[in-house]
Amino acid sequence: MNEMKIEFDAKSENEGFARVAVAAFMSSLDPTLEEISDVKTAVSEAVTNSIIHGYEGREGKVYIMCKIEGDVLEVVIEDYGMGIENIEKAMEPLFTTKPEMDRSGMGFAFMEAFMDNLVVESERGKGTKIQMIKKIGTTSWLGETE
Ligand code: ATP
Ligand code: MG
Repeated sequence: MNEMKIEFDAKSENEGFARVAVAAFMSSLDPTLEEISDVKTAVSEAVTNSIIHGYEGREGKVYIMCKIEGDVLEVVIEDYGMGIENIEKAMEPLFTTKPEMDRSGMGFAFMEAFMDNLVVESERGKGTKIQMIKKIGTTSWLGETE
């Protein structure tokens, strides 16, 4: 078991730092470039959501916890922002509450597609917690996963 935690200000300039930090942490699993790219995309979507939707540009902190157990990577991304009214609806592809900001409503769809499991917990006025799991090193030469 190996674990790390980071905490940073909810500013868009920290989004790049967040995904590189997670990518660096997972390097001990000897991931493929595709696996690294998948995790970076998922982290980027979750962190961007915390900054844009959770805190809506206001001050706040984003928390990331990563854990490696065997060949499984777990990433938890948390904010104490405004929370999600209807999680089921929010997770539907193309659903967005900010169409005026050119959001496409695909963040959760990407997280689901690029990771093996996604759990969203959120409470209005309290915040949002995203837990993602990905098994590293199962992609065969056919591109299939076991
Ligand atoms: P895109 O990610 O394509 O730019 P989006 O962010 O609107 O668009 P999703 O990432 O799928 O789409 O999120 C869907 C909706 O869920 C958001 O529009 C927002 O209302 C809500 N949401 C997601 N994450 C959070 C969060 N951390 N705090 C509050 N609301 C959130
Ligand atoms: Mg999003």
